[in-house]
Amino acid sequence: MSAAKIPHPPQPDPEPPRRPRTEVITRGFDPMLSVGSARPAVFRSSTYVFSSPEAAERAFDIVTGRAQPAPGEHPELIYSRLNHPNAEILEAQLAPLETDAREALVFNSGMAAIMTALMAHMQPGQGIVFTVPLYGGTEHLIQDFLAPLGMRGRPVPAGDGPGLQRAIAEMPNLAVVLLETPANPTLIMADIAQAAAAASRRQPRPIVMVDNTLLGPAFQHPLALGADLCLYSATKYLSGFSDMIGGAIMGADPALMHPIRLKRSLFGNILQPDECWILDGRLPTVGLRMQRASENAERVAELLARHRAVSRVFYPRLVRDLEQQRIIAAQCDAPGAMISLELRGGKPAAFEFLRRLKLARNAVSLGGVETLACHPKTTTHSGFTEAQFATAGVTDGLVRLSIGIEDWRDLVADFESALDAVTRVQL
Ligand SMILES: *Cc1c(COP(=O)(O)O)cnc(C)c1O
Repeated sequence: MSAAKIPHPPQPDPEPPRRPRTEVITRGFDPMLSVGSARPAVFRSSTYVFSSPEAAERAFDIVTGRAQPAPGEHPELIYSRLNHPNAEILEAQLAPLETDAREALVFNSGMAAIMTALMAHMQPGQGIVFTVPLYGGTEHLIQDFLAPLGMRGRPVPAGDGPGLQRAIAEMPNLAVVLLETPANPTLIMADIAQAAAAASRRQPRPIVMVDNTLLGPAFQHPLALGADLCLYSATKYLSGFSDMIGGAIMGADPALMHPIRLKRSLFGNILQPDECWILDGRLPTVGLRMQRASENAERVAELLARHRAVSRVFYPRLVRDLEQQRIIAAQCDAPGAMISLELRGGKPAAFEFLRRLKLARNAVSLGGVETLACHPKTTTHSGFTEAQFATAGVTDGLVRLSIGIEDWRDLVADFESALDAVTRVQL
């Protein structure tokens, strides 16, 4: 009997397409697999029972890359270093948050995500072009760990668009372009679309990775601008409460994600079930939290810009450089909640400011619901050389703020009284 003679089974009504804000709550989670629990349960098992030896064989073929899963096929779980239900649920719900992403992978820190992405896509003898300043750990990884393994790095100052295009065009054996935009702590932007276009002019095309921790996933969408992979410290806005360490990678092309997944299984740096469960519960509010924090930061930046204790404010809304304005308009939906300010009077003024703050706390890190302030030159960036301080714009009087979601009036009052106190010291 030919297939055409078989009557078609009744088709269920097609599901209406769902939007990211819905998918972040519903996707990849079947309550019936968790005894009807309305929210995901935590599966702490290290190992999983197979339904048959054949299913075990098939699962191993797929996880090792010897076989591809058929459309709609879900290979059985094996062992939690490779994969586990809470990572699967989290990854299914993370992907819709990043515009154009199809897949996500989660890691036990942002550094683990970055290291695994680079180790999966670089070989000895190949090169990486990257913007500076990068997150300190990432720069350390490239200069002090990858370089001795024969993977050469070429730094380009953030904001130097022509320099970045030239480096991408010229560097021999270029495997990866890594952008961190905005740069920390001066929030200078790199043009993602321009870098992706420069990468596309090379054969073979290098992979464009963007560390999207500071403005993503709410306000900056690198994949839509031509980047291949978004890297995240989930420790920051994604988790949002300064109470866990995690990392994530989002991408559109499964062929670029697969080698990273294999390396993650090898390195054993997948995010653990409890942490996956915590992070998963934070995802539906990441857009709300970032929106409120960004609105608060705009109010705080206005105050800082008109206070006489402050000589300079670094904030995307207040940028005067025309090229930077163009990139911000093309690339960012909102200015975000990171602000840096330079106080008149150098380090003593900066330290006095930090001492005087009552609501904002003196701590490194960022992206939490609570407002934090730190002095980059003596903390996050203290390993820099004088030349690096100069290129990165890290001066003695610079203070970095991560604005939270408190009532903006209390924040403005706190910053204003601390600045007034600094003015008395400066005089
Ligand atoms: C914090 C941070 C990292 C490192 O993330 P961890 O979760 O601390 O490992 C990487 N990049 C940026 C931009 C960060 O802010």
